[in-house]
Formats: sequence, structure tokens, C-alpha cells
Amino acid sequence: MTALRSISTNTVQQPLYVPLPQLEPRVQHRQKTIASSVVCQGIGVHSGAPVTLTLRPAEAGSGITFIRTDLGGIEIKATWQTVVDTRRCTTIGNGKGVTVSTIEHLMAALAASGIDNIRVEIDGPELPILDGSAQPFVTLIEEAGVESMRAPRRVIRVLKTVTVEEGDRKASLSPSSTYEIEVDFDFGGRNNLPAQHLSFRPLEQDFAEDISAARTFGLLEDAEKIWAMGLAKGASLNNTLVFDGAKVINEDGMRFEDECVRHKALDAFGDLHLAGGLILGKFHGVRTGHGLHHKLLLALFADPKAWIVEAR
Ligand SMILES: [Zn+2]
Repeated sequence: MTALRSISTNTVQQPLYVPLPQLEPRVQHRQKTIASSVVCQGIGVHSGAPVTLTLRPAEAGSGITFIRTDLGGIEIKATWQTVVDTRRCTTIGNGKGVTVSTIEHLMAALAASGIDNIRVEIDGPELPILDGSAQPFVTLIEEAGVESMRAPRRVIRVLKTVTVEEGDRKASLSPSSTYEIEVDFDFGGRNNLPAQHLSFRPLEQDFAEDISAARTFGLLEDAEKIWAMGLAKGASLNNTLVFDGAKVINEDGMRFEDECVRHKALDAFGDLHLAGGLILGKFHGVRTGHGLHHKLLLALFADPKAWIVEAR
């Protein structure tokens, strides 16, 4: 009563209780797969060749497996250990020359749905580029439905900061109570587009709404060089946002004012899903790409004091 009476006077009001420190909620994460099989078709961005992709449900604990149906069903697990090339896109391989390229946008859509178990059948060496974003894959997974399993999810908690650098590019993973992706992007003085910054929390924000539609992008001068080399045969304004200086040449313009940094976050999110579970940690990338994302996972898992697996 004394305390209440003192509040009614004009003395400085003191809180009646001290709030408890914020405790990390003990969320139950369960493994997931898709509920039914779905199919889509498109062209590979590098080959320009048509490709059919089929997603099928998989058992708990089986992981993400790509299957080359055109080669009699050769299987390649999608993990940081099977990455064989990170130039222009992320490529996984079986160590015997069989590969699957451009997996990152599908991986981001799977990460957003919390899917750790799935079979991805493909009748060629690269995934369809579709519209250059992850949105068609998000729609495909929604069409299949997502199924929760009884098994707890593998949660990879980051225990200490791990950093990798390449010139003016840098990527790090630091301890955090949630999964966070922070990205800084600029064209390194190659055009006058302002620097872009984005912070995205996959467990709390809507990937489908905020990130998934951001497309692959590039500079016109680079695209012309790449095409002259006979690469990126399937790349076009239908699947790539192309800048001539700071101006976008695509007729439909940009989907977001900061579409580039959103796509960078999409790529990081997809590449980090190769960790093999949910990351509890903060990723920070400065001008990063697939190579640095892969190096970061190698550096994290090379240091046993930097991470721990929690099944919960
Ligand atoms: Zn991408």
C-alpha cells in the first residue's frame, strides 16, 4: 500500500515490478517435407536447354537429395560438403563428375518453408531459372503442401563469430537467438546506384512476401561479355534484371526499389540452407556471393567450438 500511495504523489513514478529478462522462447522445430509430388518445367540459365523438375516427399532425416533422372537416377545430397563450383551459381556434385547447378533459388524456397527432407528429380544438369527469382518455387511448394513430421529439426546454433573475407567482400556468422540475414550490397563503384542494406529474419518475417520475388540481376556490359563467351544462353530480360548504368532496361522495371539487395539475401538464404538444418545465428554479408557463402560454411564447420547441434 505504501508503494501505491507514493505513486499517487508527484514523486518520480517507479515501476512496481522489474520485468524478467527476455528469455529465448523454446520453440519446437519439427522436420518437414512436402505433402505431395509436383512438377515444373523451364530452361536452364546457362545451357538454355529445357528441363523438367519434379519434387517428391522424403523421409525424416533423409535430407535434400537431387536425382539426375537423365543419368539413370544418380543421387547427389545437397549439403555444404557436396558443393563443387560457386562461379555464377551454386553447383553440387557427386565427386565423379555428375553435377547439378543453380540450386540456390529452390534452396531458398525450401529454407523458407523449413523443408529439410525432399527428393528433387531433374532431367538435366541445371535447375530451371524460371523468372530468375524464388517466387515460382514458393508457389510450387505451396501447391504441393508442407507436411510436419514427428522428428525434431536439426538446429545449428552458432557459438562464436566466424568471418571469411576476399578483398573488399566479407561474410560472417555470429551468435544470435534467432536466424538473421543482414546484407550490404553495392556495385563497387561500377554504377551510381546507391548502396543497399537489408536485414531479414526468416523465422519472423514473410520470405514469400518480402524476398522471394527479387530477381537475378546484372550489368548490361557484363551480360554482353558473358553472352559473347557462349555462357548464360538461357539468360534474358524474362529472368534477369539488367542495369545499363543505374537504369534498368527491363520494360516492367523493378519489383522492389532495392531488388538487388533482396536478391542477395535470397541467394545467401538458399546457400546457407546447405548447412543441413536451421541456423540459429546472424549472417552478415558485405558484397558476398555464392563462393563466400560456401567458404563461410566451411569455416564454421571446421571449428568445432563455433557451433553445436541441438535437436528440439
Ligand atoms: Zn540468385
